[in-house]
Amino acid sequence: MRVGIGYDIHRLVPNHALILGGITFESSLGLDGHSDADVVVHALMDALLGAAALGDIGQHFPPTDEAFRDVSSLELLKTVRDLIAGAGFSIANVDIVVVAEEPSIAPHVLAMRRLMSNALSIDVQTVSIKATTSEGVGAEGHREAISAQAIALLKEL
Ligand SMILES: [Zn+2]
Repeated sequence: MRVGIGYDIHRLVPNHALILGGITFESSLGLDGHSDADVVVHALMDALLGAAALGDIGQHFPPTDEAFRDVSSLELLKTVRDLIAGAGFSIANVDIVVVAEEPSIAPHVLAMRRLMSNALSIDVQTVSIKATTSEGVGAEGHREAISAQAIALLKEL
């Protein structure tokens, strides 16, 4: 068994889409960053890569590479799935915490789990997503950013 941790944070800015876990949310503010700035998928990819000691998403999908501009992070997640399998691992389970003051994420958690488990070719029951606010404190609490933390457990094939 191998465990990995991932963390990511993106700034909330006007005139950007807000995409979390592959779901596009109705919001006046969206996330700034490379690809589609899906902070949830980014944290998960780093946890998976970390568990396999395969580096991080910055190495595999450099923000300076135009090929990854505005690309769906779910597509990048499929690449990570293949890297993990290629290194001789299968995914036991993953767990993610999303920290956002708004929008309300809970109603969309099941849809996010389905999209992410589909991209990883694993059962939806092995993908857990939890949402919390930051109680008005810090960057997330002041609606300046949304962050996510993830943990992944891999099994040797
Ligand atoms: Zn990111």
